[in-house]
Amino acid sequence: MNPGHNLLDGLLARLQVSGSYAMVRTGVADDRHLIGLDSNENYFADADLICRIAEEAARCDLRTYPREELVELREMLGAWLRVEPDCIVLANGGDQLIDLAATILLKGEPAVTAWPTYSLYGLRIELAGGKLIQIPLRNDFSLEVPGLVSAANSSRAPIVFLCAPNNPTANQFSEADVVEVLTKCPGLVILDEAYVEFAERSVVPLLQENRNLAVIRTFSKAFGIAGARLGYMIANPQLGKALSDRVQLPYPISKFSARLGIGCLRHLNAMQDNVSKMKRERSWLIDSLRQVEGLRVFDSETNFVLICTNRDSSLLSAKLRSLGVSVKDVRDVLDFRGCLRVTVGTRPMNEKFLGALEEVMSNEQL
Ligand code: PMP
Repeated sequence: MNPGHNLLDGLLARLQVSGSYAMVRTGVADDRHLIGLDSNENYFADADLICRIAEEAARCDLRTYPREELVELREMLGAWLRVEPDCIVLANGGDQLIDLAATILLKGEPAVTAWPTYSLYGLRIELAGGKLIQIPLRNDFSLEVPGLVSAANSSRAPIVFLCAPNNPTANQFSEADVVEVLTKCPGLVILDEAYVEFAERSVVPLLQENRNLAVIRTFSKAFGIAGARLGYMIANPQLGKALSDRVQLPYPISKFSARLGIGCLRHLNAMQDNVSKMKRERSWLIDSLRQVEGLRVFDSETNFVLICTNRDSSLLSAKLRSLGVSVKDVRDVLDFRGCLRVTVGTRPMNEKFLGALEEVMSNEQL
């Protein structure tokens, strides 16, 4: 036997992580008719406008690597967010920035986060051989600041990951709590603002005063181009430049995605319009869900809603799926048993979901 193969087994052993993010929807034929309310995609974004932007974006010379497009996109983001272009790090979706932070910045060291939150932080950290210390949120979903600060200091964790508004609880954290974490934690605080355009407030203005803050954002949610895989980080110029010039890959996103991003930023009004429409539908959905007996429905500053069913949410979500609606089973959240996370869809999608949910909730066996 080739002794080198022992090393292959070692490599495979490194890939044994506790969770997997295999997609809820597999794309197999049966799934095609499912109403997908499990991945927080944006059905309010103007599909025709996105097609027009994409057609225009495709009119370029793809024989060469992206260069000036990257500069232009960083400049446009900088102008929009009132930061220097050097502060912007482009990536293939927010997920890739989480991965960079977890695998390259941390290199196996521990990190701290709240619980429950976006599961990718833990999965990527674990892959890099590190450990994620999770501090439960309070029952009103606010940050348990003393616990976070004490865990970050005692473990000497170089990074604290927070998601604001938080996935899956859908709430925004108070600015005072975020500032306290920023001032009392010894390392970098990465604030994931994937859903921030649906909320009332962003932490971007705090970047001026806090050089240990980095913010992750995405074009997947409010801009509605999840399929393009485009995200960015806003950091202090020193960290931003180091990440762009040395850590990120030389050509971090495709020329096509960069041009798509530029096109979307030229239509900020369209984004703001779709966000307003989603918010109106979110209010309707929350009100309607609150009429369904047995549910506790939480407020939302995102494009999804967290629902506590007090039942076996795995059974419920499987049954909903069999009725043609896919939602995310998030199980128990702190003291709230059997929670489901549902994306705000269009009215017909939401009506189908509500009908299916009423049907499963009225079945005492579930
Ligand atoms: N952060 C959070 C909290 C998310 O829910 C998501 C989307 N699943 C992302 C980041 C990443 O989004 P993307 O990679 O599509 O930019």
